Amino acid sequence: MAFKSMVRTAAFGCVAALTTQSALAADVKVTPLGGQDGEFCPQDRALIFEDPNGTRILYDAGRSVAGAEDPRLGGIDIILVSHMHGDHLGNAHNKTPNSGSCEKPDVSVSALPNSNSVNIALAKKAKIVTGSEMPPFFAGKLSANGGDPANSILARFGGSVQVGGVTIATVPAFHSNGLDPDYIGGELGKTMKQAGIAGYVGEATGYVLTFSNGLVTYLSGDTGITSEQDTVVRGHYQAKLVVMNIGGGFTTGPREAAYVINELVKPNAVIASHANEVATKGGKVLPGTKTDGFIKSVQVPVHVPLSGRTMSFDGTGKCVAGCG
Ligand SMILES: [Zn+2]
Repeated sequence: MAFKSMVRTAAFGCVAALTTQSALAADVKVTPLGGQDGEFCPQDRALIFEDPNGTRILYDAGRSVAGAEDPRLGGIDIILVSHMHGDHLGNAHNKTPNSGSCEKPDVSVSALPNSNSVNIALAKKAKIVTGSEMPPFFAGKLSANGGDPANSILARFGGSVQVGGVTIATVPAFHSNGLDPDYIGGELGKTMKQAGIAGYVGEATGYVLTFSNGLVTYLSGDTGITSEQDTVVRGHYQAKLVVMNIGGGFTTGPREAAYVINELVKPNAVIASHANEVATKGGKVLPGTKTDGFIKSVQVPVHVPLSGRTMSFDGTGKCVAGCG
């Protein structure tokens, strides 16, 4: 009897351990790759999302990812680019991770004419999933550099694609999306540059990602307030976690972004992004910053993307680890 109950206890112990493990494994991990370890800096956009099934997605590499060689990247399966501006596509990038300071990063390495995003896609053999009319540009860059043009995948507004077990949809972002002639090069690029004309690649976008644990995440991209944040992002997709651009000037500022969160999308949590300021010191939000104002105006938890710190989210958007 004693032996039997010992076996039973051991078996129960095993089940309990497995349950804890699968609960951990069912979380989506989000790791910011910013300009300075442990801080939230002006150029920071890049986030890595890791699905519980292991699929790794890089969102808006921008300038803070130190090229394809950045050891923080690890394996990357999918690259998302909300729009073509240099601070998102990556016209230049940090020399090494953490080079320079938070206020003045050393982004002296040019990524033209390919872009940081394309160079990373080539090195990692990743798929680039974009909306609008951006995919032909990426297909052209991939094939011009020995990559596979089929790795540029279209997810135009209204539909969605499934890649690596993650459902990816694009949603409208009201911004601009001209392609700098420096990515075009040659005589055409030169002529366009002289005329002050950018290449047409359709509208800027945001994304809605549905992970395998059910977590629905809205990535705002650079945008103002849109009615689709109410009707599409909340109404249809029911996003529970939002990555919200809060910098003002080029995109929603803290007040507008707070309205989007409180009145339109109504998620369970938010990750602030694109603040265009030195938002933290020693990992603490500085009083009077845009980030500080946003946190105070929003009714749900706001998580600050401190570079290198991994946050874990369950299917409801609740941060279950790493949010401090
Ligand atoms: Zn931007």
